Formats: sequence, structure tokens, C-alpha cells
Amino acid sequence: MRGEAGPQAHDFPAVTAPGLESLGELDAAVAECRACPRLVAWREEVARVKRRAFRDWEYWARPVPGFGPADAPLAIVGLAPAAHGGNRTGRIFTGDPSGDALYSALYDLGLASRPTATRRGDGLELYGVRITVPVHCAPPANRPTGAERDTCRPWLARELDLLRPDLRAIVVLGAFAWQALLPVLADAGWQLPRPRPVFGHGAEVLITDPGTRHELCLVAGYHPSRRNMSTRTLTPAMLRDVLRRGADLAGLPRRPAAGTGPA
Ligand code: SF4
Repeated sequence: MRGEAGPQAHDFPAVTAPGLESLGELDAAVAECRACPRLVAWREEVARVKRRAFRDWEYWARPVPGFGPADAPLAIVGLAPAAHGGNRTGRIFTGDPSGDALYSALYDLGLASRPTATRRGDGLELYGVRITVPVHCAPPANRPTGAERDTCRPWLARELDLLRPDLRAIVVLGAFAWQALLPVLADAGWQLPRPRPVFGHGAEVLITDPGTRHELCLVAGYHPSRRNMSTRTLTPAMLRDVLRRGADLAGLPRRPAAGTGPA
């Protein structure tokens, strides 16, 4: 059920998200959202100017929903769509170097049907994995403000709520995602350690729902940004290891690696 707020209203996510009853409804509502004026202006400006290599593209220029099955035991939380990646293709991590690294690693682990992600409708499927972000619109310089993160939070909260029955682990890519995610989990009733765990590549935290004793494992890893990958702060092997750990904690079956890629 939708709330009264129109998509441009600041409280559109807060009013709308709690009443959505499936990921399909959520994804559709997210894609309508215009609650953050700065991000709406930026995503549309980028789509108008384009990048030369993509001048024949009709950019998506809307919020980019999460991607992956509704019964996924493993979630991956990133930062936000890239201006010429998800904001162009309409699918998260699709069409940019971060996505190339992420989907290649997922394919190596048998969690994706193909190693590349180029556009919606390219046949890519995820197995047991749902990828999402705390901010669904491309931000200037890849830096959303705290206010934009907070405005977008109800979408993430509802998405995790809908995933909750099957969710066993979350791989959290980057400090921004970590800081965005922990309050959402606390608000949803998960018991978090105090003091709050600090982000670090490879850090793991086990949290519990005190009512049901449902356990959820958080695994932190560096974001596969172009900068992190080019400086080798994060290598393909490190990314694979973090994702493999998340998949193991989620209880996903180990599949034969489809490829091993460069380390
Ligand atoms: S960032 Fe989130 S809340 Fe803001 S306009 Fe985009 S989808 Fe809406």
C-alpha cells in the first residue's frame, strides 16, 4: 500500500516503504523516488550530458533498485549507483569498473550466471545473492550527504525486512555502507555489540534477533571502487575471499569455480 506522499516529497520513502509487501513492489517504488533534489538534478544532468563512450545510450537516470532473488540468504550492500554505470544501465553495479570486479568475483564463486554485467536484459542471474545500496541515486563525486543517506534509509530498511526470513549473512562493501547499515539493523531489532563494531576489511560480526534467536553474520570488505582496485588496496583475490566468506556463512553451497581470474 502506498502512502500519501508524492515521489518528490522528502518523506516519500518513509511513508511508502513500510507498506510494501514484496521486493517487486519495493523495486518499483524505489525507481519512482524523487525525494532528494540534489541527487535528482545530478542523475538527470549526467543523463543529459552523457559520456562520449555512451552517447548512444538512453540513460536510466532514475533510482537504481536492488538486484537478485527475494529468498537470497546472502546480501551485498554497496554505496550508490555510479553516474555512468547503474545510472546509465538501470541495474546496480552494471556497466562500471566496480561492477566488473564484483560480478567477475561472484561468477568465480558460482554465485552469478556470467562474469560480466553490461545492461538490463543481458541474461545475468544471481544465485542466492541480493545486491543493494543504502543510496539508490548516483551522487556527485560518489559522495552522498548524510541527509541523503537518511532520506533513503527506509528503502534499505524495508528491503532487509523483506529478505529477513532467509537472510543469513551480509557482505558490506566499504565504510559508508557499514555506517549506513548498522543503524538500520539496530532499528530492526537486531542486537549489536557495544561499542559498535568498527569497519575493517575482513571484519566479522555476528548479530542476533533476541526474539527469534535468528543469527546474521556481517562481513566487511573494501569497496571494489576503481581507486581501490587500481591501487591494489583491494585485489580480485581479496574481493573473492570476502565474498566466499559471506557465501559460506550464508550456507550457500560451494560450486566449482567457473574461473579464477587474476589475483
Ligand atoms: S537517493 Fe533514495 S531517497 Fe533520495 S531520491 Fe534517490 S531513491 Fe529517493
